[in-house]
Amino acid sequence: MNGGADQRLRDVVIVGGGTAGWMAAAAYGRFLNNGHTRVTLIESDAIGTVGVGEATIPTILGFNQMLGIDEAAFLRATGGTFKLGIEFSDWGAVGDRYLHPFSSYGQPLQGVQFHHIREKLARLGRAGPLEEYSLCAAAAARGRFAHRAGDSRSPFSRPVYAYHFDAGHYARFLRDYAERLGVQRIEGRIEEVEQDGQSGFVTAVRLSDDRRVAGDLFLDCSGFRALLLGRTLGVGFEDWSHWLPCNRAVAVPSEATARPRPYTQAFARPAGWQWRIPLQHRTGNGHVYCDAYMTPDEAEATLLETLETKATAPPRHLAFTAGRRERFWEKNVVAIGLSSGFLEPLESTSIHLIQTGISKLMALMPDRRFAAIERDTYNRLMRRTVDGVRDFIILHYAATQRDDTPFWNRLRTMELPDSLAEKIALFRDKGRFFRYDDELFDLSNWVAVMVGQNWTPQGYDPITDALDEDRLAAALEQMRRIIRDNAAQMPLHGDYVRDFCAAG
Ligand code: FAD
Repeated sequence: MNGGADQRLRDVVIVGGGTAGWMAAAAYGRFLNNGHTRVTLIESDAIGTVGVGEATIPTILGFNQMLGIDEAAFLRATGGTFKLGIEFSDWGAVGDRYLHPFSSYGQPLQGVQFHHIREKLARLGRAGPLEEYSLCAAAAARGRFAHRAGDSRSPFSRPVYAYHFDAGHYARFLRDYAERLGVQRIEGRIEEVEQDGQSGFVTAVRLSDDRRVAGDLFLDCSGFRALLLGRTLGVGFEDWSHWLPCNRAVAVPSEATARPRPYTQAFARPAGWQWRIPLQHRTGNGHVYCDAYMTPDEAEATLLETLETKATAPPRHLAFTAGRRERFWEKNVVAIGLSSGFLEPLESTSIHLIQTGISKLMALMPDRRFAAIERDTYNRLMRRTVDGVRDFIILHYAATQRDDTPFWNRLRTMELPDSLAEKIALFRDKGRFFRYDDELFDLSNWVAVMVGQNWTPQGYDPITDALDEDRLAAALEQMRRIIRDNAAQMPLHGDYVRDFCAAG
């Protein structure tokens, strides 16, 4: 008999039914609910969910595919649209705009990174703006989308994309999915958490009607409350407000637009920034700001004045602190979602971090012996991932020339984390970038933001000078033409979404 088999987890209890809880329930329902392990989710209708979180990055496709979710069914259920990137307005300087596209720019030539070649040729007047070399940016500029266009063998025929969707509908969709797989849902408010007297491990949670739910492994998906990891186990919170001072948001839905853009918009504002996210049935809007520089009333007024369509519900105010837990996994509790930390949604990374937590835990799934090595590895991996995302978000504030408000002056001149300062120095010199560990954002992402916010590097990789300039210029021109033609062939995004949902 397999000695380890007896040690397999018997009860996994997920505390919380927001996006994090239901994503975890769907994934573990599919891969753990196997006759040995039971998955139970507890959520409180009275407490509800945070209810925002509408924009994603391309990794979400992998999550849905892992669950075997049909794309058209998913888009229908969630009012979803396609997303090719994020348009940033007024970030480098007031009046600027750029698109941070999901697809990388161009293609390397003779082993040299595209962006060094373009950088050199642009100085000689022989290359166009960056965005003309990205299929995502070219399609976004035309308001168009298709899964593919042009010659399918070409690297410029398929845009890299993600989704905008209604987070509440997504959670509901995943709930149906998870319940079909046998995940048990319990509705009720947890009032008490029981711990083993010696080890401090959580043994059970007790609901307000005195029901008791026992488990071996507890996933804390309780949102900002961090009921198990924070309140019960007392794991500390590393506060990053000195780098990311925005601590409030006001969100409001408005009517859908006739022509939904295939991208998220992020407008810089005097004390923060504002998002606009097009869904099929409505537009999501929100204003993230720092309350040291703006009152909630001012923030709400700014949001309502700049809506593109009529508001359909009263504004909702939320408060948060940027940062993360010192540890994500403590004893037999793993925090996933807002309970593990918060980074403002400037690059739509929270749902991705939920997904990362779920998959890394899957890869390190403990048994009832709870080996320290699994926990420590998980904590190290997650810490590095989150810290890398943090640096990339701070970059948007650091790479600004704005000096028109106290907020922007503070952020433009703040001291940066060493890890970010190093990356910036390397890039600003010769446009170089290196990705460490499992970092989420790659060269093209850093190029998009730095160049988009006017931080053109002083030089380029000298190896570029070894290549024939005329041949490079001809190759770039060919890429630009193919990208432009392929983007122009795509249908309008709204038409494509409608037809795709109807056909699927
Ligand atoms: P919640 O949604 O808060 O869910 C917590 C759950 O725990 C609820 O079901 C609640 O009922 C339950 N619970 C809590 N206490 C108890 C108790 N005592 N008993 C029983 N149940 C309990 N992410 C993105 O990826 N893209 C975005 O565009 C984006 N925009 C955002 C904008 C804002 C302003 C904010 C604040 C966040 C945004 N996010 C975004 C983050 C995203 O909203 C969250 O990551 C996501 O919704 C996950 O939330 P959650 O499930 O961790 O928490």
